[in-house]
Amino acid sequence: MTSIPTQHVAIIGGGPAGLIAADLLSGAGLAVTVFDQMRSPGRKFLLAGRGGLNITHSEPIEEFLNRYGPDRSFLEPAIRAFDPEALRNWCNELGETTFIGTSGRVFPASFRATPLLRKLLQRLRTQGVEFRTQHRWTGWNHNHALRFVHPSLGETEFSPHATLLSLGGASWPGTGATGAWTEVLNTAGIEIVPLRPANCGFLTTWSDHFASRFAGIPLKNIALRYQNATVRGEAMITANGIEGGAIYALARPLRTGIEGGHESTILLDLQPDRTAEAVSQKLSSRRPKESTSNWLRRTLRLSRAAVALLREQTGNSVPHDVAQLTHLIKNLSIEVDGVQPIDRAISTAGGIAQQEVDADFMLSKRPSVYAVGEMLDWEAPTGGYLLQATLSTAVMAARSIVAKTAASEA
Ligand SMILES: Cc1cc2nc3c(=O)[nH]c(=O)nc-3n(C[C@H](O)[C@H](O)[C@H](O)COP(=O)(O)OP(=O)(O)OC[C@H]3O[C@@H](n4cnc5c(N)ncnc54)[C@H](O)[C@@H]3O)c2cc1C
Repeated sequence: MTSIPTQHVAIIGGGPAGLIAADLLSGAGLAVTVFDQMRSPGRKFLLAGRGGLNITHSEPIEEFLNRYGPDRSFLEPAIRAFDPEALRNWCNELGETTFIGTSGRVFPASFRATPLLRKLLQRLRTQGVEFRTQHRWTGWNHNHALRFVHPSLGETEFSPHATLLSLGGASWPGTGATGAWTEVLNTAGIEIVPLRPANCGFLTTWSDHFASRFAGIPLKNIALRYQNATVRGEAMITANGIEGGAIYALARPLRTGIEGGHESTILLDLQPDRTAEAVSQKLSSRRPKESTSNWLRRTLRLSRAAVALLREQTGNSVPHDVAQLTHLIKNLSIEVDGVQPIDRAISTAGGIAQQEVDADFMLSKRPSVYAVGEMLDWEAPTGGYLLQATLSTAVMAARSIVAKTAASEA
């Protein structure tokens, strides 16, 4: 058994949630050990930074809070207590300024996660945080000590005065977020809402010809409609479906619809900046003998992928009639067959059921054990909302640990 000081916090999971908690706790003078099953911490955070790390969003807080489901009230106190401005201040104070992009999204000045992670890890080491990598948490023993398995050290145990679980969801398992913790917590009698893909792509059946030529090609500046939700943006054709920002934004209602056996047709507007009348007017100037592709490209500047999609969805019979074609361009239907697997999703829905934690995210069935970040049951679209909630829940729990430790020492 490892010998430890009496007031020692174990953080299991070295993603952004675990690391910001380690920063607060060690900054408050507590001894902190971060365990992670990977060789190094922050792997998903680094992955998130590859396409530009969108750390939070600058929209008004009421709109911001409405992005969260299934019920915003679960996260609201944590986000208000450590809000987007506080998060930006924390980045600033670490030496990584942030800026607001044209869409209102907030990014670190470097646009990447690497400098922020490097600076944070440096500060944690200065504050005395110990890292134990390649330690896979497997649960508790009969004395409530934490149990870990290490590839060469074998089984080890650890008895902290408080534990913070920040084990992430189940997407991109190569980053360490395998979701295997659900079994451990289930065994401990903690209710887990099944993990499902969120901000994910959807499956559809393309012809071989279309898939082989257009997989990986984006459909830019489109609008997507599903039930009464409409989203502007971009979608990417994949070999067996469709993904990308606009699709992710519809993922929650679409997944729920599919799970409930409801209709699964999304409607694409390939000309969202033009009314149907304006599209018809443009199309009415077809030149004699002009091919359909040239007609569409010249009058509406439709991309090759958009024209090919029109052909794909009409069995290569794009109507010549202007009214019919206008309707199709503004309402092109795509039948979705299923949800892409969770391992390629941006984030995970489901997790520890909300009623299993108190207002500070402490497990009611395991006093002194907190759970934060993506492993809790909430979901949000992309746009910086994922990291904000991840970090806010971790800050809330860390502040509670600091307060309770101080109270117990008084
Ligand atoms: C491609 C991609 C792009 C993204 N881009 C953005 C973005 O721009 N903005 C945004 O807000 N969000 C983004 N996200 C989401 C964001 O990265 C996550 O929401 C965030 O990383 C969740 O943090 P976390 O600390 O809860 O979990 P994670 O970052 O997943 O960390 C969990 C840690 O726990 C460890 N662990 C798991 N099980 C065990 C165990 N049994 N024992 C020991 N250690 C264990 C893992 O190794 C891992 O290090 C993106 C995600 C992906 C996949």
